[in-house]
Amino acid sequence: MTNQHQNPWTEEEKKLATELKAAGVSASQSAAQLPGRTRNAVIGFWQREGLSSPRPEPGLGKTKRSPEELEFRRQAAREYRRNLRQQKKAFIESAPDGAAVPRRIAYRGECPPPVVPLGLSLLELSDSQCKWPGDDAGPYTFCGHPRDAASPAYCSYHRWIGTKPTPMWRA
Ligand SMILES: [Zn+2]
Repeated sequence: MTNQHQNPWTEEEKKLATELKAAGVSASQSAAQLPGRTRNAVIGFWQREGLSSPRPEPGLGKTKRSPEELEFRRQAAREYRRNLRQQKKAFIESAPDGAAVPRRIAYRGECPPPVVPLGLSLLELSDSQCKWPGDDAGPYTFCGHPRDAASPAYCSYHRWIGTKPTPMWRA
């Protein structure tokens, strides 16, 4: 084991380690370019030089959420997972025999707040309104909330829960 106190960092090493950190190279990859320096030694150097990003303080940046919002989010998360399972099932069932099957489905970020469908009929629905079928409001009705600019048919929420999963193919 190399004791770093017996081997002070040379100016060349410091310069290289600083440049590697600035370039976003990982500690282990940086250590590989610094003969005799371990990953931990590189991390220690970065910390001494104040190059490492400080650990976030626990609790900092967390906003307190109301029980209603938490329940709202739990429901949205449940709906999201159910939707993913259904999409995955449909995807697998529609895949030709012998085709690769997705091992996992990419997470798509935080769910927008769920919306209550307005229950518009197809005739009432304009092009700028969400066309997600609103089963809860009755058959042949649609969500009707403003369409998300990034979606050809759906509001932000239905775009989120309805987006086709991104298959992560097996190697
Ligand atoms: Zn919608």
